Amino acid sequence: MTYTTLRHDWTAEEIAALYDLPFMKLVYQAQTVHRANHQIEHIEKAVLLNIKTGACPENCGYCSQSAHFDTGLEKEKLMPVSEVLDAAQKAKDAGAARFCMGAAWRSPPAAAMPALIEMIEGVNKLGLETCMTLGMLKEEQAQTLADAGLDYYNHNIDTSPEYYDKVVTTRTFDDRINTLNAARDAGMKLCTGGILGMGESRADRVSMLRTLSSLTPHPESVPINRLVPIDGTPLADAERINDEEWIRTIAVARIMMPTTTVRLAAGRHELDWAAQTLCFMAGANSVFYGERLLTTPNVAMEEDEKKVFKLKQVG
Ligand code: SF4
Repeated sequence: MTYTTLRHDWTAEEIAALYDLPFMKLVYQAQTVHRANHQIEHIEKAVLLNIKTGACPENCGYCSQSAHFDTGLEKEKLMPVSEVLDAAQKAKDAGAARFCMGAAWRSPPAAAMPALIEMIEGVNKLGLETCMTLGMLKEEQAQTLADAGLDYYNHNIDTSPEYYDKVVTTRTFDDRINTLNAARDAGMKLCTGGILGMGESRADRVSMLRTLSSLTPHPESVPINRLVPIDGTPLADAERINDEEWIRTIAVARIMMPTTTVRLAAGRHELDWAAQTLCFMAGANSVFYGERLLTTPNVAMEEDEKKVFKLKQVG
């Protein structure tokens, strides 16, 4: 096997063995795979905008936007197209490559499709890559979005198939995979990853990465989040995972999916600079840029400009 081999048949034992490598050996191996497949100086800047907030009928145990939990979040209707395009222009001016639009729905309502199409077309015209996360998609909906020019569909698998019903019960893991397949079949690229620290075990993290790597082709984008606990949600008091386990997960994801863009996603604001640097060493090559992520905090943009995007200076 070379550092560029794409595999979809990783076994749980092989993945667990990667996790168990001595830390520096694991990071070195991930960095070697990373250098063989990516420009080392490039960190993708993705900007995320909530285009419809709260009142979601799903019960994802980590989410402030679920109608099932009292989190004090103010709900908002679908944002007007002009406001979305203004935000996309600002993202472009700030150097973003991708503009991600998220709506708190189980599935996008038919009445919203014309506005969503206008958003996709408008953001594409600005020269940004487009990504949306709108909940479950049927085949026709996926095709409509793809035909409008949507580049990426985000739909995280969140955790392992085995642990999934401890996190959400209003849909199944298979529902998740069906939407990913619909998005892929319609011609869109996939952005799908997970959230660490929801009470899952190492074996669940292994199983989650195994599921992601079994998708053919691999998802183009894999965000690895750490739970940002939110008061009022069932997972507010979930046991935290430590920084090392997060870095190990990024490294294992990089080795298993060599050409994928691995995003150091939500929870990054809690990492100090040394830990963030280790994540980049371990193969993360994308971050969310901006003060907020849907409804949770993020690293200040000035700080990212001074630190993350100065990484370009090291080759
Ligand atoms: S994560 Fe998405 S689908 Fe789940 S409750 Fe939040 S907005 Fe709804």
